[in-house]
Amino acid sequence: MTEVEMTRGPRSPPAAPAETEEDNERLRELARRCYGDGIMPASIDPGVTSGEGREVRFKVNRHIDQVKISWLKEHTVTIIFRNGARFLSRKVKEDIVRAFEDERSADGSLDSATFSRGRVKVESPNVVSYVAKNVAVANWMILNERDEITIGPTRYAFEFQPWLTKAQLKAQRQEEDDSVFWVIAVQVPLDAFFYLEAQVTRAIGPVVRVHPAEQDRLKPALISIKFEIDPAARDNMRDKIWVDTCEGDFLEVKLASVETPRCRRCRAFFHTEAECRRNRQQGQELPAQQGQSEATSRPQYQGHLRPPGNQSNQGGNPNGAPVAGGDGASAMMGGDATLERGTVGGSGTRAP
Ligand SMILES: [Zn+2]
Repeated sequence: MTEVEMTRGPRSPPAAPAETEEDNERLRELARRCYGDGIMPASIDPGVTSGEGREVRFKVNRHIDQVKISWLKEHTVTIIFRNGARFLSRKVKEDIVRAFEDERSADGSLDSATFSRGRVKVESPNVVSYVAKNVAVANWMILNERDEITIGPTRYAFEFQPWLTKAQLKAQRQEEDDSVFWVIAVQVPLDAFFYLEAQVTRAIGPVVRVHPAEQDRLKPALISIKFEIDPAARDNMRDKIWVDTCEGDFLEVKLASVETPRCRRCRAFFHTEAECRRNRQQGQELPAQQGQSEATSRPQYQGHLRPPGNQSNQGGNPNGAPVAGGDGASAMMGGDATLERGTVGGSGTRAP
């Protein structure tokens, strides 16, 4: 609600005649010092205020804002991390941009005498804004359109686009969400884990990527695994996989996707906030699920099964506070985490 309205695009006619070239040059220099050197113009017209209680709103000067936006448009590149690259941590994303700067300045494609680092701003899981100090750097990136970087065994692709406003970024995110088809296997039985990827591939479609297990805080003895699947296979979505074992057990693996109901209170799938058992049984143990009652009801095993100080502590959080970014699609940050790590965390059990 406190967003500054930016007038731009077709609604931005040429500046009013009152402003001089000199004014514009001065404003551009202020923008350069602000975004380049980090020095905010203390005496700039802050805009017209209107107050509502402890919130204050500024309608900024149209001309000043136009000059600022045009400066940003010249210098800023929006970097979009595609597919798996979106799950890299913020730190890694910034490192990628810096590595890219280093590479460009080292290979002589930029004048190293005038090169200095630009400003990085992480906008969302898959979007980073980069404000170049030198217009040539920004132009060079946009001209190249895309690049990729290799970290360990994996190649990460990213695209360079002209700076996007907030409204444009929002549209971009929606498009990204639409283009990724993910399926989470919820509370995977350990017995079934072994076959899971092969079965998901056979039942639904080609698995593009497997993300580290999301800890299920209600039943931490089990693990959830997120698959990114070829979007063409969206129509093949299944709700359940049954695994018949050699001993005659029937293991149930529930599958969730973006359409699946999800509780905003406890973050679990398959029920809504209104149906959440935590509303009625605050602080009480939920009944153990099939096949797990043995393990969870025998206190003598707890000490051995729960690795000290790992993520299963989070799993026992009685308040059910949502984990950061825990919306399923974007919860898995830190692409350097391994599948194994999730497995270890998932083997912990909660004290009764
Ligand atoms: Zn719930």
